[in-house]
Amino acid sequence: MALVSRRQLLGRLGGIGAGALAAGFVPLAFAEADAAETGPQRQWAMVIDLRKCDGCKACTKACQETHHLPESFEWIKVFEVHDKQGGSFFMPRPCFQCENAPCLKVCPVAATFKTRDGVVLVDQDRCIGCRMCMAACPYGARYFNYGDPPVASNPFQHPTPEFPVPQQKGTVGKCMFCVHRSANGELPACVDACGMKAIWIGDLVEDIATNGDETVRLSTFIKENDAFRYKEELGTGPRVYYIAGHGQLLDY
Ligand code: SF4
Ligand code: SF4
Repeated sequence: MALVSRRQLLGRLGGIGAGALAAGFVPLAFAEADAAETGPQRQWAMVIDLRKCDGCKACTKACQETHHLPESFEWIKVFEVHDKQGGSFFMPRPCFQCENAPCLKVCPVAATFKTRDGVVLVDQDRCIGCRMCMAACPYGARYFNYGDPPVASNPFQHPTPEFPVPQQKGTVGKCMFCVHRSANGELPACVDACGMKAIWIGDLVEDIATNGDETVRLSTFIKENDAFRYKEELGTGPRVYYIAGHGQLLDY
């Protein structure tokens, strides 16, 4: 099903450049106005193939390393789910980057906003730590920083919504699809780290996705594999699709 090379895909997905990156992440009102004038450049989405996940949590660990998070912060959390038939499977849960994000609507200071590329970000300079967003998220995808992150000193420039490292005490953080990496043509840390190639990052506009090894036509991939969105009935419009399974495609 490979359509283009990985290099071509990352070039397409990531060929934004530093200037465009800086311009790419703007508060929702501006983003919508901009999109109305120019049309969306890309709309990030993810597909997670539960037929391939072995529950190793390499995705979780890579995310924690990339964002300098404590072990208790699982921005992509791998659940072991037990089904009614007595079987079980592993289900990684990142932030679903909801199109109709309840976390964004309840934030009283507009610290949570959506980029024109469809990623929900948190501006920790604005966040007042009220945790309304945590209560509103039906997926438990947000984490409150009760303490300082596990870095001795700040080796970075001041944290930004696109690269919120280190996290700020008294604010809320979450998965942001590694926009700091994809903007430079790199895969999100979880996609890169998954040895089973179970996680795909894609663009709904280009209609293409990759797991680092293969590239596929995103819409066809979703349709042919009957992919579903978790708790879609809530009307949140999750941007993460799951291919149902229980690890049956693992190549041991
Ligand atoms: S999964 Fe939760 S935190 Fe992420 S966009 Fe949706 S409501 Fe917000
Ligand atoms: S790295 Fe891949 S196989 Fe391991 S838990 Fe995450 S999604 Fe599953």
